[in-house]
Amino acid sequence: MCFAESSVSVEIEEGDLVMEQYKCTDCNTKFRGIGKKMRCPSCQSANVTKV
Ligand SMILES: [Zn+2]
Repeated sequence: MCFAESSVSVEIEEGDLVMEQYKCTDCNTKFRGIGKKMRCPSCQSANVTKV
């Protein structure tokens, strides 16, 4: 019996889930968010670019 308690506590800190900054090309609102399909919080436009 070999119960080697291998407490492998790998802390997955793929913590580069930082908020990216986007800019709406319609109303020039800058905002931050995470996601693929960002929408402008101001005018709900999908015409946003990453800045
Ligand atoms: Zn906008």
